[in-house]
Amino acid sequence: MGRITLDKVTKSFGDVNVIPPLDLTINDGEFVVFVGPSGCGKSTLLRLIAGLEDVSSGQIRIDGEDATNLPPAKRKLAMVFQSYALYPHMSVRKNIAFPMKMAGVPEDEQKRRIEGAAKALNLTDYLDRRPGQLSGGQRQRVAIGRAIVREPSAFLFDEPLSNLDAALRVNMRLEISELHNQLKTTMIYVTHDQVEAMTMADKIVVLRAGHIEQVGSPLELYREPRNKFVAGFIGSPK
Ligand code: ADP
Ligand code: MG
Repeated sequence: MGRITLDKVTKSFGDVNVIPPLDLTINDGEFVVFVGPSGCGKSTLLRLIAGLEDVSSGQIRIDGEDATNLPPAKRKLAMVFQSYALYPHMSVRKNIAFPMKMAGVPEDEQKRRIEGAAKALNLTDYLDRRPGQLSGGQRQRVAIGRAIVREPSAFLFDEPLSNLDAALRVNMRLEISELHNQLKTTMIYVTHDQVEAMTMADKIVVLRAGHIEQVGSPLELYREPRNKFVAGFIGSPK
């Protein structure tokens, strides 16, 4: 589970083409990072995969199934929004339960999944607090918990740490990597931060103006950047 393929996917907003034809394969269990400068199309690409935007042409397959025209709720993917997307008036437990409630998951199953997620994220002691009573890092973990309980084929993260201070970013980076080791679920992670890309990724996709400049492991991109743009982005000495 968690294999995602894009076949000649394009996206235009009106007359403006943002994603020229793009092919990409994300393998089951991979931690894939999309990097590139602001405005290069990282979020658009993630939103196309999530189904939050329709492709202009091309095909998206998820776990072997044509998902191109499936609504987001049918794609078995969980988009992790930034922590400010939590409901301030609800407890952590209710925030985490919310997507399951919407999906009609039975109460005892909800309880089981909340306990599992809380344990994986070190939130067991905080389930009855409200988001306002938590630290930034804890709030971010609640946002991730809300995604975990949906038991998705893949997690999609769009710059999830950009609101956090530097020390917390390092912490959360390690926690998300640890979570990936634990769950072994496909993760697609968007960032414009080279350090996050180099330290977290199994595979880095370097984007520039909507197209892929290079795909490879951090080591491959560091050792053999295809051009100056990639080298500059990866911090390679070349
Ligand atoms: P990134 O996440 O890499 O910063 P985006 O995917 O947000 O880049 O944006 C890529 C390009 O698409 C930008 O030029 C942006 O202005 C444009 N864009 C994104 N969403 C829309 C939209 N809803 N309507 C029009 N243009 C958009
Ligand atoms: Mg973006």
